[in-house]
Amino acid sequence: MLGASRWIICFTVWLYAYPLLASDPIDAPRQDLAGEQFMLANALWTLLHETAHAMIDELDIPIIASEEDVADQLATLALLGRNPNFDLPGGVTQVDSVIAAATAWRVEWELEKWEGTETAYWDSHSLSIQRFYHMMCLLYGNNPEKYDAVQEQLGLPYEHALGCVDEEYERAHRAVKWIIDTYGRQRGNATSQGAVSVVYEKPLTTEHKEIAATIKRAGIAELVAKRTESTLALPEDITIVFTPCLSGATAFWHSERKEIVMCYELLARFRYLYQAKQCLEMAGDEEIEACLARTQN
Ligand SMILES: [Zn+2]
Repeated sequence: MLGASRWIICFTVWLYAYPLLASDPIDAPRQDLAGEQFMLANALWTLLHETAHAMIDELDIPIIASEEDVADQLATLALLGRNPNFDLPGGVTQVDSVIAAATAWRVEWELEKWEGTETAYWDSHSLSIQRFYHMMCLLYGNNPEKYDAVQEQLGLPYEHALGCVDEEYERAHRAVKWIIDTYGRQRGNATSQGAVSVVYEKPLTTEHKEIAATIKRAGIAELVAKRTESTLALPEDITIVFTPCLSGATAFWHSERKEIVMCYELLARFRYLYQAKQCLEMAGDEEIEACLARTQN
């Protein structure tokens, strides 16, 4: 019981401290722009997550953990690298994107609790709150001195935080290095030089048109395509496709079509999660409820 209370207190501290800790542009005064940055950061992390699925499948990379957890780790580590390969327009750094994506998982969890939705324990993904913590653990493990506040504010016991450095980050970092060394372009395999292209299918709603324009303008898919192409010796060409989806707010790797599918509905969901985050930070239950009702997704 004591453990649970402590967790709730620490989580609440984190929830409110987050904008200060990150000093990030996500909570910048211009809320419309900030919301778009949050959406872009999440789109970027999701693209990297789906690229990881494509990579594991296409290169037949042996993994021993859940593929979803591995894809989360690969996406997060791509953004924690020393080179600023994935900085976004408007001064959104790679670390900002990790925090924004982790925050989206935390908000999904909070919404699930608020709405009383039954948790899908059987799902192939870790629980959204676990995805949040795993990502923040990697962030801390990447640079424990710089992100010391993360350990305190997340309420990670010191011993566990140490594990984020040695067991989580260092191990994952070594695995990424092994993948690049084993499957990277430097192997010089001329028959394995698959290209990555980007397609924007016609959006069907005004909101999706706005989203497609924002994504195109930021060039994040082209950035991921270029980095993937130059880093990995893919056996075949693959395509990143932005499209309206009957399946709703999702993204996935389509193995037969060799496509990373990014649904406009998911990008709209990220916009909603940004607004929901503001609602969940309100003081009283009635205020939260009214705010969420105004921003229904
Ligand atoms: Zn996945």
